[in-house]
Amino acid sequence: MRILVHICCAPCFTYPHERLIGEGHDVTGFFFNPNIHPYSEYKKRMESLEKYAELKGTRIIYKNDYDIESYLRGALGSSDRCEFCYNMRLKETAIAAKSLGFDAFTTTLLISPYQKHEVLASAGKKIAGEYGIVFYYEDFRIGYGKSREMARALDLYMQKYCGCIFSEKERYLKKGK
Ligand code: SF4
Repeated sequence: MRILVHICCAPCFTYPHERLIGEGHDVTGFFFNPNIHPYSEYKKRMESLEKYAELKGTRIIYKNDYDIESYLRGALGSSDRCEFCYNMRLKETAIAAKSLGFDAFTTTLLISPYQKHEVLASAGKKIAGEYGIVFYYEDFRIGYGKSREMARALDLYMQKYCGCIFSEKERYLKKGK
């Protein structure tokens, strides 16, 4: 299957990348994350992915559309900012996958035990129906620990928070508790 994989960051891509290739899929990455704040953090994550892609010889499409204003408007106007954030990124991935002739799309967000996995999976399935392309679902969480080891071994940048300004604040609030 030709799969377009939405990538939130290089460390989260390591394990799904290896696994999908091992399953015989043809993998292309898709970096689209205007939720990440501040811009310097966004650049760090993108550069880390560029490093990984070069090491592995992987194709990546960078949709370098840093429209943080739209993200913030949507997140603040939503009752569940993460659901909005998943939808925003998965829709863009599905549109690109469809227009570029891929068989399916998926996301590295499925590896994180910190994401709302069921919300994410149902967003993917719903978007797949809307755009007429398969959402490739796999519970990658089993490989989360391994992905951290792989990222450390390659000396990839490991971020301390999910990405948005809200999660950046929460990381400090949690520490203070
Ligand atoms: S916590 Fe993560 S998934 Fe949720 S809105 Fe922020 S960046 Fe998006």
